[in-house]
Amino acid sequence: MISCGYVSECRGYGLKVEVPTRCNQGEGFRTTAAMAAHADRLAELEKRYQVHPGCSPTEFIAAVKLYARAVADLFDLTVPVHELDWEISRRAKRRAGAVISTDGCPVRVRLTWEYFQREGWAAMAGTVRHELVHVHLLCEADDGSHGPAFRSLAEQLDAPRHCTRFAPPKYTVRCVDCPTEYYRYRRSKLVDRVDAYRCGECGGKLIVS
Ligand SMILES: [Zn+2]
Ligand SMILES: [Zn+2]
Repeated sequence: MISCGYVSECRGYGLKVEVPTRCNQGEGFRTTAAMAAHADRLAELEKRYQVHPGCSPTEFIAAVKLYARAVADLFDLTVPVHELDWEISRRAKRRAGAVISTDGCPVRVRLTWEYFQREGWAAMAGTVRHELVHVHLLCEADDGSHGPAFRSLAEQLDAPRHCTRFAPPKYTVRCVDCPTEYYRYRRSKLVDRVDAYRCGECGGKLIVS
């Protein structure tokens, strides 16, 4: 059943997934009180690791990894956060995030910079939780679908049930010295007065297109 090399032993209460897993002890999570406590903790973690769209890609990935590990710990997910590659996609235009697998084993989580720029941290945190559910179910049950197991776990993690899609931006602000790009969907101070700003990653000059 488990084809993934990342197998961790069960560490506590079982997850309410509708697929066979090796971890069945503990019913605590199924109670309403336990779920409410987890919702509070989730909100707290989202706030604790929050970064703003003005941050650099490096800061963003660092925050995402800390956040992902905290969420995975909270829900006892089989997600080897630090063995996965976490990367930004600057090319994806319509997908907020994706899990890339090799031989059915998740190896990389790709998050769309533009989506973060447009929708902010709360939306991106939802995408991170969505991708964590995929990674967990790929590891535990070789299931990369949005089927019943996905829906059940996504509900517990308050994650969007569908891969989020979005429209391309109106303005792209590019650094002339590095690959950093910022996206804006309407005119803003950054678009109108681009000379007053510098690249968050390298300090380079920015241009609008
Ligand atoms: Zn998905
Ligand atoms: Zn730069």
